[in-house]
Amino acid sequence: MGAAQTVTGSLYLLETKKQRFLVDAGLFQGSQKAEKQNFRPLPFHPKHLDGIILTHAHIDHSGLIPRMVAEGYRGPIYATPATIDLCRIVLPDSGSLHEEDCRFENKWRKKCGKDLLVPLYTRQQAEMSLKYFEKLDYYKRHTIGRAVNLTFHDAGHILGSAIVELEIEGSKIVFSGDMGNRDNPILREPDLIDQTDYLVIESTYGDRLHDDPATRMEGLGEIIRGAQGPIIIPAFAVERTQELMYDIIRLQRDGKIPILPIYVDSPMAVSATEIFERYQSVFGSEIRAALKRGEPLFETPNMHLIRSPEESQRLNKLESPAIIISASGMCEGGRIRHHLYHHLPQAQSTVVFVGFQAERTLGRRLKEGVQSITLFGETVPVRAKVKSLDSYSAHADYEGLISWVRGMQQPPAYTFITHGELSSSQALGKRMMDELEIVTVIPALGELFELLPASSGTARLEPAN
Ligand SMILES: [Zn+2]
Repeated sequence: MGAAQTVTGSLYLLETKKQRFLVDAGLFQGSQKAEKQNFRPLPFHPKHLDGIILTHAHIDHSGLIPRMVAEGYRGPIYATPATIDLCRIVLPDSGSLHEEDCRFENKWRKKCGKDLLVPLYTRQQAEMSLKYFEKLDYYKRHTIGRAVNLTFHDAGHILGSAIVELEIEGSKIVFSGDMGNRDNPILREPDLIDQTDYLVIESTYGDRLHDDPATRMEGLGEIIRGAQGPIIIPAFAVERTQELMYDIIRLQRDGKIPILPIYVDSPMAVSATEIFERYQSVFGSEIRAALKRGEPLFETPNMHLIRSPEESQRLNKLESPAIIISASGMCEGGRIRHHLYHHLPQAQSTVVFVGFQAERTLGRRLKEGVQSITLFGETVPVRAKVKSLDSYSAHADYEGLISWVRGMQQPPAYTFITHGELSSSQALGKRMMDELEIVTVIPALGELFELLPASSGTARLEPAN
């Protein structure tokens, strides 16, 4: 019911004979048209759900949960402990953003005598939803509802991210969730799964290969060394920001970049960084070894974590080389828009994209080289240099996805490809057929499939209308 032939809005409704579960309940993001879908009528009543299973805290997977609770859902929301801690910051923030958007929109609506809008949910409603979360550690097989077994495996995508393994009525279905990139400097590699009858796999980068991680560090170092003015890096507050902090500290330690002031200007990123520091047990081996040697994770004297708006505004006047990391990652909201407003017209500034930019977002347009943008009702010329480092990715590329599936002892009987723009999903499907002889289906939004029990012989599916 989301992330079908597109990358946002993850939501799967899973019905067994007597029960109904959601796997993820995420927001559509990007264009206004996409965001309108967050208000769509749903073909189920949240009250009648038996459980919500959450793969990770990203808002395109978790952001519809407060709506479910506001509409009467009172059951458990299963997630890993780190995902729950991250949801404590991202969901209330999402509520505030919906309220703000609504207030802004209603200003002109009031003037024109139009009907006033209500927010998708409020901060308070988002906070309410947090009490339904239930912790489930990785690798613990847990019975949810009646006779459904749920196990979380590490997806290595963001802190707390999980691959969902469900055993239902004699069949197994695995949701990859968002699958991590093996070169993530902080997290573990995605766990392998022995076997599954049905697989639902993401395909954000189903048609692309990432550069070598060494190239990424070199690329970042080169941009920082060549900077004549501020470097503005739009970055997701959770994960990408911490990866950048970690990489910049390493470049600095190795003498590969000059020591510049580094500003992490996002209250959410600052809170997320504190959560990262609490979950060092789920980090990859390289970083755990560094921690053992006493190397700091995210701290260095020239690193400034900024929460207050006044301190943030002071950065508008910067002209000398400095690094500003701010959210949101696709420039659709948050403080990054103020930094772009002030620094895009300056030829000495550099904007560096380090993450996926969805279609029709401000980030995508800048990355594609537009000459000017509209921000805060004004035309802003783009004179700053715009660069991108594509190898920073929290998602596996097609080789990562294929080798993860190849790692199964037995290929899945059927594979659904979701969470990708259609061309990416198709490219992955073709490769899975060519290299692994796996039949794949790319479901359309709202499409319904009946999964027959694997124990009945051949697993089969019936698209239903
Ligand atoms: Zn994600």
